[in-house]
This record gives sequence, structure tokens and C-alpha cells, in this order.
Amino acid sequence: MKYDISITKTANPKAKPDPATLDFGTVFTDHMFIMDYDEGRGWHDARIVPYAPLALDPAAAVLHYAQEMFEGLKTYLTKDGGVQLFRPDMNAKRTNRTNDRLCIPQIDEDFYVDAIKELVRIDKDWVPDAAGTSIYIRPFIIATEPFLGVRPAKSYQFIIILSPVGSYYEGGLAPTKIFVEDEYVRASLGGTGQAKIGGNYASGLKSQEKAHALGFAQVLWLDGNERKYVEEIGTSNAFFVMGGEVYTAPLSGTILPGITRDSVIRLLADWGIPVREERFTIEEVFAAHADGALSEVFASGTAAVISPVGELRWTDKDIIIGNNEIGPLSQRLYDNLTGIQSGELPDTHGWVVKL
Ligand SMILES: *Cc1c(COP(=O)(O)O)cnc(C)c1O
Repeated sequence: MKYDISITKTANPKAKPDPATLDFGTVFTDHMFIMDYDEGRGWHDARIVPYAPLALDPAAAVLHYAQEMFEGLKTYLTKDGGVQLFRPDMNAKRTNRTNDRLCIPQIDEDFYVDAIKELVRIDKDWVPDAAGTSIYIRPFIIATEPFLGVRPAKSYQFIIILSPVGSYYEGGLAPTKIFVEDEYVRASLGGTGQAKIGGNYASGLKSQEKAHALGFAQVLWLDGNERKYVEEIGTSNAFFVMGGEVYTAPLSGTILPGITRDSVIRLLADWGIPVREERFTIEEVFAAHADGALSEVFASGTAAVISPVGELRWTDKDIIIGNNEIGPLSQRLYDNLTGIQSGELPDTHGWVVKL
């Protein structure tokens, strides 16, 4: 292997949480992976060490100009006690595309997946076994060089932490209420919409808070140039079933290329259901509803897998989709994706990576 990973195990393992009370991203395992980058030396000193706070210079570039990226994927416990990952090579590829956009150095993609596997192996006992629970894996890179000028940093850390998470849906799949945001925008052409970077999320908080205050679970983002075209739902990709065809925004630079999105499109193709990756307006969605042609709306992402939408508000118009019930396609996609991820259904696409 190109790099060795040194391993220092914790002397004080933490108590594991009760799987029944797990929520999202509040508990972390005993260990973390760290690797450093320095200009002239490249990535070096890959290590797994006890989970602990980082020591950062207050002038570290990440704290000032947000040169930072992150990823998110999950591990799944199979019935036979094995642990598996879902398409981790896609997270490695997306990391390098994000890195390129933020002038962060590239990382060896095979090593990236090996580092995830090694860390999960060390903290394997933390993978909860209750239905719907998993470990959420958070790889991220920060610019660590102490320097207050604006230019790409000369030093970085690549870190991976693990968080056992509970079932996203406590009472099973449930439709959500979504607010169509026509004031703030998430991304515009030429910006960073396709990159998984902290800056995109800090700038979305205001809008999310507004939606919450109005009683909505999330926002639907419109394009940043005309506020007309449908882009994404919160931190998920968005799908609309209209006239028997499935529409989703194209990967034209302003939306995040979701791995769940890609998997949904491939499953729909397997099933012979037409998918249109093309621009469509929120006006067309509301018109389709008025014509009785809008049968389902759902969001896709690693955390919730498939999240059906039961209600949409755009300006002063509210529509209820599919009787506010889970649509058949949303349910079928959810069952198939979670079935493949947990090893209960055959993996005909080579998506699953066992530890
Ligand atoms: C992470 C993310 C998604 C979903 O990507 P997955 O790879 O499916 O988890 C979609 N939109 C945004 C803005 C995201 O950050």
C-alpha cells in the first residue's frame, strides 16, 4: 500500500449509547483517522488515534475563509453480523471533485476507501444492530496553515469520524412539508453548488430557519439566477413524478451530485421507468398538480435514503401531493435501496463493499 496507517488504540473506551435513544450526529466512536498534508511533502502520517479535540492555530485558514470540504456515507450491519459500505468509491471521487473546486490537494481514492474501512474495522463494535440504525461516516478536510491571506493553504488535515445514528424515521417513512424558497438562493451558475463544502450550508441556515418557523421541515431550492427552476430539497436531491415520468434537475453545476440520486436513477432505469434529467420550473410542477399529473415528490440522500414529500408551499399556494401518503415509487425505491444497503436484497450493481 502507498501509505501505512499507524494505530493507537484508546486506553479508555467510552460506554456505547442505547440504540433506542440514538439520534443524528451527537455521539462519536472511540477512534478517528487523521492524515496531514504539507506542500512539498504531500499527504503523510496516516494514523488512527483516540477520538479527541483537535489542536488548531487560531489563524488556521479554515477558520477564516472556510477552505473546508466534507462527505457523508453510512455503514450497514448485515444479518450475519458483517459490516458493509454503500458505494464508498463514489464518495472518494466526489471528494476529489470538491477538492479541485476549493483548491485542496487531491487524495488517492483507493487509499481513501481503505482508510474508511480500517477505521470502521477498529470501531466495529459501535455499529448498532437495531433496525434502521447505522454508523454515519464523516470524512472531511480542513486547511490548517496559520495564515490570514486569501490563497490556497499549504497544509491540511484529512480526518474521518464515525457517529452511530438512529433510524431516520421513528414511525416508518413519513411524508414531509416543504417550503419553496423564493427569497434566498443556495447556488448559482459558476458557484460552488456541486461541491460538498461547509460554506454552502452556513449560507442556507437562514432559509431553513425561516421554513421551520413557518412549520415546514425543509426548503426546496430554486435556481439562483432566475428563481424559477427546481434544484434540490434541503441537503437532498429532488424527484418529481409527473405524467408517469420521473423528473430531476440535471447535474449542471448548481446541484450536489448525490450518490443516492445516481442510485435512484439506475434503479428506475432497471425498472423501465423513464427518467428525465432536465430543467423544469416550479410553475410546471404546480401546473402538473392542477392537471392531476403530479403523483409523487420525494427527496434522496444518504441520511434519510428516500424522503417522500406530502405538501409543497410556493408563495401563497399550498398543494397536497398523493393525499399526503407515501407514493408507491417512493416506497419501492426506499425498500430496494435499504434492502441492498443492508444485504437483504441482492447487489446486482456491485454497489456494496464488505469490510
Ligand atoms: C450530500 C447532499 C446530497 C445527497 O447526496 P448523497 O450522496 O445522496 O448523500 C444532496 N444535496 C446536497 C446539497 C447535499 O449536501
